[in-house]
Amino acid sequence: MSCLHNKHINPLIFLNLNGKNWHLNDYIKRGGYKSLKKILYNNINPKKIIKKIKNSGLRGRGGAGFSTGLKWSFINYKYPGQKYLICNSDEGEPGTFKDQDIILYNPHAIIEGMIIGGYTMGITIGYNYIHGEIFKAYQRFNIAIKEAIEANILGNNILGSNLKFNLYIHRSYGSYICGEETALLESIEGKKPQPRFKPPFPANFGLYGKPTIINNTETFASIPFIIKLGAKKYLKIGKPNNGGTKIFSISGDIKNPGNYEVPLGTPFKKLLKISGGMKNKKKIKSVIPGGISTPILLGEIMIKINMDYDDILKHGSMLGSGAVIILNETRCMVKILMNISNFFKKESCGKCTPCREGTGWIYSIVKKIENGFGKEEDLEKLLLISKNILGNTICALGDAASISTSSFIKTFYKEFLYHIKYKKCLIF
Ligand code: SF4
Repeated sequence: MSCLHNKHINPLIFLNLNGKNWHLNDYIKRGGYKSLKKILYNNINPKKIIKKIKNSGLRGRGGAGFSTGLKWSFINYKYPGQKYLICNSDEGEPGTFKDQDIILYNPHAIIEGMIIGGYTMGITIGYNYIHGEIFKAYQRFNIAIKEAIEANILGNNILGSNLKFNLYIHRSYGSYICGEETALLESIEGKKPQPRFKPPFPANFGLYGKPTIINNTETFASIPFIIKLGAKKYLKIGKPNNGGTKIFSISGDIKNPGNYEVPLGTPFKKLLKISGGMKNKKKIKSVIPGGISTPILLGEIMIKINMDYDDILKHGSMLGSGAVIILNETRCMVKILMNISNFFKKESCGKCTPCREGTGWIYSIVKKIENGFGKEEDLEKLLLISKNILGNTICALGDAASISTSSFIKTFYKEFLYHIKYKKCLIF
């Protein structure tokens, strides 16, 4: 499913796109690869580029929101062996669908961003790790790579310079856990995609045990615009500590679900408006602002929030991957938590006990409540299980299951209680 909508506010990545002009020639007409040329022809010092990325306020668009410039500074430029650069295009969480649209509509922005990354960190091999269930994205990126190779933009002596950068695609199996960065590394190495213990972190011990930097698709696609505009201008598009634009994947009870690129700090109210408003004139009940791993918020709180990392955090949730799920007044929160907990139970890779066992317990208890067999003490039990999972697992999936469960119960305690007492939904 491709979801590009045209009502963006000051877009960079989705600027002037119509679904057909994604080829190399179109990208060049839009000013593409000028940033790479600027760097190569002026022989810009990699340290200056890292400083620029840091000052731009670009934060990882995959979920954690870590400073991209800081991450790039962790790599030892002079490391004598092979290093790797990986684009994480594995979106397996319900409600996330922005990376596939970036690949479909603007694949060369990702390629340019990755080559600039290679130049900056002295890396010559890159992978784009694409979610296995989006075959069209794989096909399109493959063609884009071929176009770049033919134009001497990828390979040896890029654009007549000394720069070398080869880019490959690796398709994931399609499970949620493949997107966890160390599981992704195991997967490229041909092993079962299960997360590794950290530390060591990938910047020291990554793919094949070599220094590796992993960034999200949207992060790489943002890089050429930072070089083109300069750090100050890019930062100014958003707000301090939250530079540039962000693509929000909006789904749920909304008129026009889709991907919307807007400056970071845009009021949620405005985002709601450009995505058509609530479907069937229903009232907004709650919002999951950053994918199902982030705490749910009441609609009345959400309506006052600006869509940036800091403001959402201040109000008790996270921007995450930018997957905004909007729920109307008719939605039963018990049923929604049951579906979410079923997802986490199914996607747990089973490597650590709190997650493997805990996600199963959470699902079976919530299912029991939904089916009218719940007891009041089940709510305390759910909170206790969540507490015991939190911080005690190898990767963030366990935390995600814990956070979503406790936030649903704490925010909608009365609704869960009603369900238990009267064996039906409060809303009907
Ligand atoms: Fe696997 Fe869950 Fe442990 Fe992550 S937290 S390693 S998904 S069992």
